[in-house]
Amino acid sequence: MTDVEKKSSHPVPTSWTYAPAPESTEIVQLRERYGLFVGGKWLDTKDHFATISPRDESPLAQVAQATEADVVNAVGVARDAFGAWSKLPGSEHAKYLFRIARILQERSREFAVLESLNGGKPIKESRDVDLPLAAAHFFYYAGWADKLEYAFPNRSPRPLGVAGQIIPWNFPLLMLAWKIAPALAGGNTVVLKPAETTPLTALLFCDVLRQAELPPGVVNIVTGDGSTGAALVDADVDKIAFTGSTEVGKAIQRRLAGTDKKLTLELGGKAANIIFDDAALDQAVEGIVNGIYFNQGHVCCAGSRLFVQESIAEPLIEKLKKRMATLRVGDPLDKNTDVGAINSKMQLEKIQELVQAGRDEGAEIYQPPCHLPEKGYWFAPTVFTNVAQSYRIAQEEIFGPVLSVLTFRTPDEAVEKANNTPYGLSAGVWTEKGSRILWMAERLRAGVVWANTYNRFDPTSPFGGYKESGFGREGGRHGVEPYLAFE
Ligand code: NDP
Repeated sequence: MTDVEKKSSHPVPTSWTYAPAPESTEIVQLRERYGLFVGGKWLDTKDHFATISPRDESPLAQVAQATEADVVNAVGVARDAFGAWSKLPGSEHAKYLFRIARILQERSREFAVLESLNGGKPIKESRDVDLPLAAAHFFYYAGWADKLEYAFPNRSPRPLGVAGQIIPWNFPLLMLAWKIAPALAGGNTVVLKPAETTPLTALLFCDVLRQAELPPGVVNIVTGDGSTGAALVDADVDKIAFTGSTEVGKAIQRRLAGTDKKLTLELGGKAANIIFDDAALDQAVEGIVNGIYFNQGHVCCAGSRLFVQESIAEPLIEKLKKRMATLRVGDPLDKNTDVGAINSKMQLEKIQELVQAGRDEGAEIYQPPCHLPEKGYWFAPTVFTNVAQSYRIAQEEIFGPVLSVLTFRTPDEAVEKANNTPYGLSAGVWTEKGSRILWMAERLRAGVVWANTYNRFDPTSPFGGYKESGFGREGGRHGVEPYLAFE
């Protein structure tokens, strides 16, 4: 018997036990207390709040709570810096952006560990997705900075002024990169507010700005809660870029109505991931898992509604359940972990409430057996079958590792059901037929349609929504446009 034959006659292992593979946290040096980063300096404030790690609820640092006066001051500093920064040639803007990108790459392990500590996402995701994409955004917009006059034919772009940017907790550093890179490439200055639960990578980023020798005041970071965000919306800024909930997005839009401040909103979603009967099922199962369990489902474009063609519903769901049983839920700092901690107690309660609503309304729940740690915030990967379109779990954004399965018979029915939502951020289509992909993509009211894949991101590709998922695009040439005025 040859070696190959011997090997192939061995029984295939049905389950693996993974030894712990914890990532060391020593690379991260946290201060006890952080101030606001304004004008290249740390400014202290009267009030602070604790930021914790959702994996064990341990406090990590004290963070400044910016008041309205602090925000007004930061915006004033950004305005003062705008004069000199906006007059620099594009190649100079590019120089700083390239520097920031390279430093992020050099320090990526430190940032990845801190992102997982503060936010709860698995280290393999912060390491392999968040950090490379954040650096890629800075590289990409560095490339546009000295070519803007050629980017928009027959229009002469100029910087807008001061951009106020408000970001959420699901991709803290990546959302910062999506916001800051195009703003600086366009010659603007920035005041950015990170989310209350995940301020630490934004604060570490201030160190990168100093290392890159970015002129003081060009980027300012103000931490705080929703009231700090609201103060930034009301301050003397020229533009607000917001990513977060539809509810807060609507409040901001109401606030800015009648002013000449520009606005882009990237809001919630309830994406349809649609599987036709000719799709490669095993591949589709991987796409479904990636679509909803990636980052604990804290993803605005998560494929949270699964539409399966009726003829393959049974085998597909069986395969999906088997695959779910192999997901490792636990310590975000363990390199084997697939599903980490829920970002906050509040978010956990929201997920629990909606899952209870799913049970009460009559859907059938499946959760694979998994040992959840005692401390911290956890939720097992969950799938609901027998879901009706009217159920809350099919209508509302859960923003957790919870999938609702619905079925359809014809492509028309799939489109009708997929579009039956107030949102329109993303969708997925799984089929062997290229013509069907194009037919579906034309009809789905979603800003992004992935075909035979899911959750793919690239800085060159614009991302954004329809309907209550917001307006404006981030990424690509389209992403710099909202930061420019045209002659
Ligand atoms: P929010 O929309 O409240 O938070 C997003 C950002 O806006 C945060 O920085 C927040 O600050 C800030 N903010 C809060 N209130 C105001 C305000 N009145 N004016 C200006 N800025 C404000 O989202 P949540 O964190 O409360 O999450 C709630 C739900 O929103 C989630 O369950 C999920 O469904 C959805 N969501 C969607 C996201 C997306 O990417 N589309 C991202 C995050 C959440 P602070 O953190 O201090 O409250």
